[in-house]
Amino acid sequence: MAENNQGTSQNANVETQKHLLQSDALYQYILETSVYPREPECLKELRDLTAKHPHAIIAIPAHEAQFLMLLLKLINAKKTLEIGVFTGYSLLCTALALPTDGKVIGIDINREPYDLGRPIIESAGIAHKIDFREGPALPILDEFIQHEEMVGCFDFAFVDADKHNALNYHERLLRLVKIGGLICFDNSLWCGTVAGCVATLPEQVINATHYVIELNKALAADKRIEICQLPIGDGLTLCRRIS
Ligand code: SAH
Repeated sequence: MAENNQGTSQNANVETQKHLLQSDALYQYILETSVYPREPECLKELRDLTAKHPHAIIAIPAHEAQFLMLLLKLINAKKTLEIGVFTGYSLLCTALALPTDGKVIGIDINREPYDLGRPIIESAGIAHKIDFREGPALPILDEFIQHEEMVGCFDFAFVDADKHNALNYHERLLRLVKIGGLICFDNSLWCGTVAGCVATLPEQVINATHYVIELNKALAADKRIEICQLPIGDGLTLCRRIS
């Protein structure tokens, strides 16, 4: 059936009924049925430790961690990048999903939260897959691009750091991730603020909305990638590099 890109208003209504999560109870159901019973002990330990941190909210939820692990295995990822490590929760789930000879480079401007999670990561037997770099991500990525052997060598990148640099990261990652590889942007729904839901959110969250909206627009228009924006966690946009 022919229709414009926006769909008819009747179709738009149908679309809004297609998401599943209508209550916190339903999300809890997913966690208790499919996530927690299958969660590796070390991830649970790090999730519990992270939950005590005053900024616990910035780590990805357990359901998204489970999704990322499955995704990494589905694409047979071997070399990956992570921008924004915090206590190392998404880094640990990445390392667990990679093969024994896999590598994840995790970049964070602040090493302190990672040092809290490090003992758990080290006792999980996967620390040899992790290369942590402390510093602002942009110059580190620019330095990687100078090394010919690093260009186009990554299977996967997970971006979960300063939102105002997301498009800058995207440009660098399009050099570093191979054609057919995935670049994933976390928080692409930004607590719903991208669609005008503001509820009672801290001012700095509201202030960054503009950057997330610009990122979403740019990704949707970017012919170098195929995309899918998933309503998991705070929104996760998958970008498959095609050129
Ligand atoms: N991915 C983690 C959470 C990351 S939170 C998880 O799910 O467990 C965001 C992180 O981005 C913070 O630790 C913050 O220090 C880091 N960050 C912010 N600005 C940055 C920058 N310019 N370069 C690198 N890291 C940055």
